[in-house]
Amino acid sequence: MAVYEFQCRACGQRFEVKVPMREHERLKQEPPACPGCGKRETEQAVSLFSCKPASSF
Ligand SMILES: [Zn+2]
Repeated sequence: MAVYEFQCRACGQRFEVKVPMREHERLKQEPPACPGCGKRETEQAVSLFSCKPASSF
């Protein structure tokens, strides 16, 4: 399982969605409904953790 963070474009709510890794492609085509307002105008939020600069190994 992987946790993806989504943000609703309609109301701005951020929420997490747990899906198996293989479901990720489907999520991109069919975004989950917002738990706040129920709309599907959601997009995957960019995680702060993925924005870290490459560490100097
Ligand atoms: Zn919403």
